[in-house]
Amino acid sequence: MLNQGIGSWPARRARKTPERVAVVHEDRTWTYRELHERVLRLADALRGLGVGRGDRVAYLGPNHPAFLETLFAAGALGTVFVPLNTRLAARELAHNLSDSGSTVLVHAPEQADAARTAAAEAGVRHRIALAGPDGGGALGYEQLLAGARTGHLDEPVAPEDPCIIMYTSGTTGRPKGAVLSHGNITWNSVNVLVDTDLAGDEVTLVAAPLFHTAGLNMTCLPTLLKGGRVVLLGAFDPERVLELVESLRVTYLFGVPTMYDAIAARPRWATTDLSSLRTLNCGGAPVPARTIATYLARGLAFSQGYGMTEASPGVLYLDKEQTSAKAGSAGVPHFFTDTRVVLADGRDAGPGERGEILVQGPNVMTGYWGRSEDTQAAFTDGDWLRTGDIVSTDADGYAYIVDRVKDMFVSGGENVYPAEVEDVILTHPAVEECAVIGVPDRVWGEVGRAVVVLRPGSGVDEHDILGHLAGRLAKYKVPKSVVITDTLPRTASGKIIKPAVRERHGREPADPSPS
Ligand code: ATP
Ligand code: MG
Repeated sequence: MLNQGIGSWPARRARKTPERVAVVHEDRTWTYRELHERVLRLADALRGLGVGRGDRVAYLGPNHPAFLETLFAAGALGTVFVPLNTRLAARELAHNLSDSGSTVLVHAPEQADAARTAAAEAGVRHRIALAGPDGGGALGYEQLLAGARTGHLDEPVAPEDPCIIMYTSGTTGRPKGAVLSHGNITWNSVNVLVDTDLAGDEVTLVAAPLFHTAGLNMTCLPTLLKGGRVVLLGAFDPERVLELVESLRVTYLFGVPTMYDAIAARPRWATTDLSSLRTLNCGGAPVPARTIATYLARGLAFSQGYGMTEASPGVLYLDKEQTSAKAGSAGVPHFFTDTRVVLADGRDAGPGERGEILVQGPNVMTGYWGRSEDTQAAFTDGDWLRTGDIVSTDADGYAYIVDRVKDMFVSGGENVYPAEVEDVILTHPAVEECAVIGVPDRVWGEVGRAVVVLRPGSGVDEHDILGHLAGRLAKYKVPKSVVITDTLPRTASGKIIKPAVRERHGREPADPSPS
């Protein structure tokens, strides 16, 4: 039977383009032939440890070639890959390991302590350390590969077989494990390749964490499917991004808005040669108009995308030709994916009407791991995935992401979408970052509060910020108070954690004090 799993990709690539560079990390490179050989060895070693079809193998570490090798080796065996968030504490890791029932944990030296504790607590059978055997019972990754064979793998993997349990970012609550099948992952990559100009000579810089969906599925996998090269950056560092774009002639970059803002804020941004960049893809959180303008002003094709872990993740994408004409839009659905926008009463929304966007397609997950109630609640009208995101569509069918349903609040009977308010606050040159939340109010039910991080030495205060908003926003949208703070709580993927902002700043007295 034809192996239709993503575990077969290195072998298929090695057959076509064995000597092309597949992966770059620090000062080393691996060709497709080398990647294929290492994947075969790792698969053989995992099989030797008793790992087989349907079992789960977890990975914990910063971006590194071993992440991809473990993913492909697991895929080749029909084993489910479970990437873990490096920011989690040992107790949370233990929960994810036992929740997923992982029997093997591969981990990097940076996470050795947490991995040891969590694996013991969760009863994980084998720990494999990238840094080598550690005396605490871990097997050495390279030693395992050296002792393994490169024999042919003939596990029949079908498109509907589970491939990855990918945890959501945890922006609105506890992360949920979306079960993505081999078919889901493949169709997402196909969507990306159809809708972008990604080519065999692509140089893709992976600066977002691989354990979140976009880092892996929007950048790495489509590039490797096409035979391009991926440059793995251990962790996001805006200075390194600019250095690498210039020195390696990077062609494709993905990031959440904060990453793009941090890159453009570096002094060397002005002098870096960016001419190699062909595709800039930004999504994962509301994209401020200011961010888009900064990149378009450099003559770069800055496309917004919209997606979610549950959709593997691509849902909408703005075509390169439309980046200026439709600036601010997240575009139209990916080629093999469909969307609908529905109003609260279930009717389909017309142009300009705001409603929840629903998604259907071969890239949409089958459900959440071990959470049948959440899975049931995630779908409506059969197989339409509920996103929890509010969108409006223009007369040409281009979608504009408004905000999450969960972040909206009601002030004096009017819906306020914080992302729209934040976008205007960010036009103040002294504002570096901001988050708007609703706080209780005796008269209006709820009113807005802006939590703002200022640029160092800007000499601006709360009144200046409020003054800036007057006349730029309808009165009911203008926050009644401003809190100035040093940092905003963010997920590993760089998104503002609104529940944490509400927790921290929703109750404290503020200046000017709420009316
Ligand atoms: P959790 O589901 O655990 O609360 P999360 O929703 O942030 O976390 P992800 O799957 O990483 O987890 O992110 C998907 C969400 O990111 C979308 O539902 C949407 O709210 C937001 N998002 C993605 N792209 C955009 C975009 N272009 N503009 C605005 N928001 C976006
Ligand atoms: Mg979500």
